[in-house]
Amino acid sequence: MSATKTGIKVIVVGAGFGGLTAAIECQRQGHDVEIYENFPQLKVLGDIISFGANAGRIFYRWGQGEVVSRLKPLCINLKDYGFRIHKYDTGEVVYHQPSAPDTPDAPPMHGHRGELHKVIFDYARDDLKIPIHLDSPVTEYFEDESQAGIVLKNGKRVTADVVIGADGVRSKARELVLGYFDKPKSSGYAVWRAWFPATEMAKDPRTKEFCEHGDTFNGWIGQDVHFLFSTIKGGKNCSWVLTHKDEHDIDESWSFPGKLEEVKEVLKEWDPLCTAIIEKTPPTALVDWKLVYRDPLPTWISKHARIALLGDSAHPFLPTSAQGATQSMEDGVTMAVCLKRAGRGKVQAAVRTYQDLRYERVRKVQKTGETTRDLWHKTDWAKVRENPSSIAFPREDWIHGFDAEKYAEDNFADAFKAQTEGPAPKAETPLGMTANASPAVVA
Ligand SMILES: Cc1cc2nc3c(=O)[nH]c(=O)nc-3n(C[C@H](O)[C@H](O)[C@H](O)COP(=O)(O)OP(=O)(O)OC[C@H]3O[C@@H](n4cnc5c(N)ncnc54)[C@H](O)[C@@H]3O)c2cc1C
Repeated sequence: MSATKTGIKVIVVGAGFGGLTAAIECQRQGHDVEIYENFPQLKVLGDIISFGANAGRIFYRWGQGEVVSRLKPLCINLKDYGFRIHKYDTGEVVYHQPSAPDTPDAPPMHGHRGELHKVIFDYARDDLKIPIHLDSPVTEYFEDESQAGIVLKNGKRVTADVVIGADGVRSKARELVLGYFDKPKSSGYAVWRAWFPATEMAKDPRTKEFCEHGDTFNGWIGQDVHFLFSTIKGGKNCSWVLTHKDEHDIDESWSFPGKLEEVKEVLKEWDPLCTAIIEKTPPTALVDWKLVYRDPLPTWISKHARIALLGDSAHPFLPTSAQGATQSMEDGVTMAVCLKRAGRGKVQAAVRTYQDLRYERVRKVQKTGETTRDLWHKTDWAKVRENPSSIAFPREDWIHGFDAEKYAEDNFADAFKAQTEGPAPKAETPLGMTANASPAVVA
């Protein structure tokens, strides 16, 4: 069933998970949408990425479960194995966290970023016929009271009612929105990461147990370092990430080839199984990924409220939240609902309402990346003995039980009224956020 057309023209810049979701949801809500993307062709890039149940709920609505059925076979299946947390030096399993219950209409998913991205990209382009212009780097953004637009590298100008800057952590759109260049800072941590075939892992008697009984997920935690290792696709592929202190300044690039010798040095006092795992890594598969931190931006929207940041361009996440991609998807769902509810004549108030509905929740979820990291990096082992589940990976209902579309529909009217008529007091603050988190501007 196709939605009633709203006549709202939307340009999305960036075809990552944030941009693709924004475009898919804009089409679902009846807007006309096109995507402009820098990369010339789709490549299967990256390694492990996580989506919470709050993303699964969004995916499930696409093609009434069809997209989930395409994603699921690519994802890790920990139904029997769960997540095992080890003490860094002895290797003893200090907590065995069972898998989250299976929720078919809101499945949490973890898999290869590039493989999952291709499924969503193909769904948007081939199933929904959303125009995706590749090899189209955007060099400028512009807006006035009545429209917004982009300039491509080839000089072409394109206009719309609203432009969504889903252009990632090195966002160009952010410059226009903020009016200055906001250089990313080092978070003080970096992640070595790798994804490769588990062939050598299966041959080594020390590591073959991870390949012989389906998918597995193990973590070792210690002072200022944690190491996560999973086998996937029935033990045929494997992936590991090691988060450690790193004070390097970062400029243009934050992802480099990694050096295995440096990883071994960090792990030299650790359970020897960790070294047995990482030494199988092909040199070309090892990436040194500097974790970018950004102070919360004062705003995600431009002066005339026709250009909005979305996903990593507005709010980069630490991997320990396991919510970066999911929150970018929630942004897209919210924006599409706000535009539909406000209508074409009130696009600017819709964009401001989008920010109000998202800002506090995003900040609160962002914080969980730091709390989980600190939980693992500053472990009080005596307390863990008393209460092993205290180091479990958090699965709070306010994060995972959240339905972004329902929340936007239920709270739109109040937040929109505050934007168009001045702030309205709210009786209660649902799910850890306020519905009026940015100053009201009368549209
Ligand atoms: C190549 C790549 C690999 C990644 N690998 C991992 C991983 O292994 N694990 C993990 O957890 N996260 C990974 N991430 C990050 C993760 O996908 C994001 O944090 C999350 O999905 C939020 O996505 P986003 O859409 O906001 O931003 P992104 O996923 O960064 O997408 C932004 C998109 O905008 C495009 N873009 C940027 N500038 C312009 C411009 N001027 N004009 C047009 N298009 C532009 C980029 O090419 C990119 O496709 C990766 C991101 C990228 C781009």
